[in-house]
Amino acid sequence: MTTIEIHFLGGTIGYAGARDGEAVRLGGDALLAGVPGLDRLAVTLDVRAAAAPVPSASLTFDQLTRLAQEARWSCEAGTADAVVVVQGTDTLEESAYLLDLLWDRPEPVVLTGAMRNPTLAGADGPANLLAAVSVAADPAFRDLGALVVLADEVHSARWVRKVHTTRPHGFGSPDTGPLGVVIEGRPELLHRPASHRLTLRPTGPLTARVPVLTVGLDEDSAVVGALAAVADGLVVAALGGGHVPRPLAEPLGALAGELPVVLASRVGAGSILSSTYRSPGSETDLLGKGLLWSGFLGPAKARVLLIGALACSTDRVRLAETFAQASSMRMPA
Ligand code: GLU
Repeated sequence: MTTIEIHFLGGTIGYAGARDGEAVRLGGDALLAGVPGLDRLAVTLDVRAAAAPVPSASLTFDQLTRLAQEARWSCEAGTADAVVVVQGTDTLEESAYLLDLLWDRPEPVVLTGAMRNPTLAGADGPANLLAAVSVAADPAFRDLGALVVLADEVHSARWVRKVHTTRPHGFGSPDTGPLGVVIEGRPELLHRPASHRLTLRPTGPLTARVPVLTVGLDEDSAVVGALAAVADGLVVAALGGGHVPRPLAEPLGALAGELPVVLASRVGAGSILSSTYRSPGSETDLLGKGLLWSGFLGPAKARVLLIGALACSTDRVRLAETFAQASSMRMPA
């Protein structure tokens, strides 16, 4: 029998309304009891419930790295064959990518949640839980790192993004499509990712302060200095393929001499460019000034990667190598 360690952290899936101004949250056992068909899967569930379930906006790097360590011990000891993490969807993209970066084992780590809470008609939590457990139990989904399962789709943590604020189909992989699907309760792996997976081995806690500067039309260059004052690193969610207004180019270049500054795009899909445009504030200008290329990683994942990478080494050459590996599409030779 396959044993799945299932961690309940909180979020919409267990949000049962409010009483006296306080959220009422269902625990893991109550949520599992409401999943039709779960008893027909040949799995044993080892339920690990957070002492206090929280909205996913209040999860921390410390909590998630401890979860990864706990799951690693269970898999190493042979007491778990797969891991499921149930949390709110607001930060699920980031948690999934962090766990992917921390997970170098073959067992699947499957994240799920819900877009519609249990008080609403058409709550999607039970279907997502069932699909997530089915995928975790399926050997076809081993060696793929962390996966996100919602709306009967299986996404790679490396590519998935939250793409809608409210609809059940709130997650997508705009650049690749899903890795797999769940049909009539049966998981199907559609393709394996061509890009290699990067794993990190932090030597200390993930505590670096990395704000994201989302650049807008006519952005004031003073914001660069304001953020730099509180930052260990910066992610620039730039316009289009990686562009900023001319007045920001010099301050960002100067900052990149002091701190790691990552160039990403605010668009939501596609890679940033590397060699198309030449003008102050263009991608060639910013990369030439020392900003780090993030390829297809969006700003949220670039921030997670930088925080994780800074917990491994602050050496600038190593940071650049880490970003080059994470954003590369090709298996290393
Ligand atoms: N979607 C929210 C989350 O990501 C729900 C907030 C809540 O549970 O209070 O957790």
